[in-house]
Amino acid sequence: MATPARVRFPAAVFLDRDGTLIEDRHYLADPAGVAILPGVPEALGRLRAAGTRLFLFTNQSGVGRGYFTLADVAAVNDRMVELFGLGADPFTAVCIAPERPDEPSVYRKPSPRFITEMLARHALDPTAAWMIGDAPSDWEAGIAAGIRAAAIVADPAADRHRARREELGVAAHPGLLDWLRAVVR
Ligand SMILES: [Mg+2]
Repeated sequence: MATPARVRFPAAVFLDRDGTLIEDRHYLADPAGVAILPGVPEALGRLRAAGTRLFLFTNQSGVGRGYFTLADVAAVNDRMVELFGLGADPFTAVCIAPERPDEPSVYRKPSPRFITEMLARHALDPTAAWMIGDAPSDWEAGIAAGIRAAAIVADPAADRHRARREELGVAAHPGLLDWLRAVVR
């Protein structure tokens, strides 16, 4: 009998929200506008079943700009979790970074601070942790934290950040489930 392939799931995955888990509708503040991207619930369900810790890490400068409030962001997040259909909230912790790009950054990506704090708090192996997102600031935050980074590029014809991604050596996947299949293959 063939030996089953050893599959090593990540210890932790840090997930961007807009353009990674849900459709990127700029400055989304209305829960009715949440649209889950294909394959996301299945990927999250598989990760959670494998014991991978999931973290949501989202820049929301609309808060700092006064367009909407942290409560609005939380309502959108709640709707997203509801639409995952996975039952309980799958996230170990959530970081909503409210800063505007022109003000001093605390948690706003590319700051790696949330990632490094969570790695320390939960004693996670950085080499088994990933930051997944669709923007350079996502990959830069992951790399600055010493973890691995992957890119979601749903439409290769609209791949605006290709040069930067290649410079950083970050691989692109059409969606979260494609990334997971590549990692645990
Ligand atoms: Mg994004």
